[in-house]
Amino acid sequence: MSIELNIDLHCHSNISDGALPPQEVSARAAANGVDVLALTDHDEVQGLAHAASAAHEHGIKFVPGVEISVTWANRGVHIVGLNINPNDATLLKGLAGTRAGRHQRAHRIAEGLEEAGWPGGMAAAERLAGNPDMISRTHFARFLVEQGAAPSVSAVFNHYLSPGKPGFVATQWASLSDAVNWIRGAGGQAVVAHPGRYNFSSSTFDAFLGEFIDLGGVGIEVVTGSHSADEYAKWAAVARRFGLLASRGSDFHAPNEGRADLGSLPPLPNGLKPIWHDWW
Ligand code: AMP
Ligand code: MN
Ligand code: MN
Ligand code: MN
Repeated sequence: MSIELNIDLHCHSNISDGALPPQEVSARAAANGVDVLALTDHDEVQGLAHAASAAHEHGIKFVPGVEISVTWANRGVHIVGLNINPNDATLLKGLAGTRAGRHQRAHRIAEGLEEAGWPGGMAAAERLAGNPDMISRTHFARFLVEQGAAPSVSAVFNHYLSPGKPGFVATQWASLSDAVNWIRGAGGQAVVAHPGRYNFSSSTFDAFLGEFIDLGGVGIEVVTGSHSADEYAKWAAVARRFGLLASRGSDFHAPNEGRADLGSLPPLPNGLKPIWHDWW
C-alpha cells in the first residue's frame, strides 16, 4: 500500500448509465494516471471482464465492483461492493431482481415526461442505453439535454427527474440487508456511496449507518465527485466516529457531463484508514 497511488473506486460504463464502453473506461483511467480502478456499474457486473482485461493491458490494477440500488426507509441509497466475485450466483440473481422493474419504470418515466411536453423519451432512452436492461434516469436526462429542455444533466434532474417532478417514478429497489449480504456473500466489502447526496437528518443517518454496520458493512465514501471539497472533512469525521474504512471514487459517468473525471479528485484526508489498507 502506498499513499501516493491514485485509487479510483467508483465509476460507470455504458453497461449502466456511463457513456463509455468498459474497455474505454479503463483506458481513460490509465491515461488520467489512475493506478487502481474499480468499475462499479449500477446493479450489473457484465462490464467487469472487459474492463479488467483493458486495465491489465494498460498496466493498472483492477478491482471488480458494483453499485447496488437500495431502498431504505422509503429513500434511495446506493451501496458499492468492492472486490466482489462477479460470478457469485446469489449476487447475480439479486442484481437481476434489482434490475427487473427498470424497463416498466422507464415507460412510466417516458409517460411523465410526455405529459410535461417532451415526447419520444422511451425510444431515445433505448437508443442511448448501452444495455436495454439498465435504462436509467440518466439516459432520459441526456435525451432532455439533446432536446434543449435544460442546459445540463444535473439541471434536468432538478426540473424533471427528482421526487415530485414529472419524470420521477418511485421505485422499490433492493433492501439494505439484501445488498450488503449479496456483496459479503460474493467475498466483497460493502461501502456507503456518496453519503452527502442523501438528505437524511443526522439522527436518521446515524440510524442508517448503525444498521449498515450491524449487517457487516465496512466502508464509506469520503472523497467522491458528489461531495464538495468542504464536505470531505465532514464525512471523514463520520468515518472516524463509526470506525468505517474510507473510500475514494470519482463516480465518473461521461466526459463533458460536468462531473468529476477519473482519478481527478484529491487524496483522502489524513487520519483515515483506507478501504484498500490490507489489499496488497
Ligand atoms: P436511476 O438508477 O435510474 O434512479 O438513476 C440514478 C442515477 O442518476 C445516478 O446514479 C446518477 O448517475 C444520476 N443522478 C441522480 N441525481 C443526479 C443529479 N442531481 N445530477 C446528475 N445525475 C444525477
Ligand atoms: Mn449513475
Ligand atoms: Mn450512486
Ligand atoms: Mn455511481
